[in-house]
Amino acid sequence: MIKPLLKGLGLTLRTFFTRPVTLQYPEEKMVMYPRFRGLHELTRDGEGKINCVACELCAAVCPANCIRVEPAEGPTHQRFPKVYEIDLLRCIFCGFCQEACPYGAIILRENYETANYTRKDLLYDRDKLFHAYQK
Ligand code: SF4
Ligand code: SF4
Repeated sequence: MIKPLLKGLGLTLRTFFTRPVTLQYPEEKMVMYPRFRGLHELTRDGEGKINCVACELCAAVCPANCIRVEPAEGPTHQRFPKVYEIDLLRCIFCGFCQEACPYGAIILRENYETANYTRKDLLYDRDKLFHAYQK
């Protein structure tokens, strides 16, 4: 009977002196590994212009059907997305949109703080997708 008791106490002592695995979130934030697929970001080129050409490949490949792109044409006939929306409530963070994009215009970043209060706030439009990662 004393043996299991000592074993249990030994385990408690060992655990007591090891580093805790939990974090005091939100004061402490977890550093995600580089391949983590979190919140999307629409990227820009060096001049600040949107890289997306509204080809809609990402929308076509999305298994959750949660990307909506409406293309438009600029003065020099360059295409850009007049509307670009991702419904995060449906997104499964598979990363297919990033893989399919020929211009690296949509990437999934390390930001995992996507919780919100309303369904509307989880519909990310073009501007939100530009700035989501920087917040
Ligand atoms: S990560 Fe997957 S589910 Fe989410 S928008 Fe991209 S393709 Fe769709
Ligand atoms: S994000 Fe990429 S794949 Fe999607 S519409 Fe824009 S250019 Fe095409």
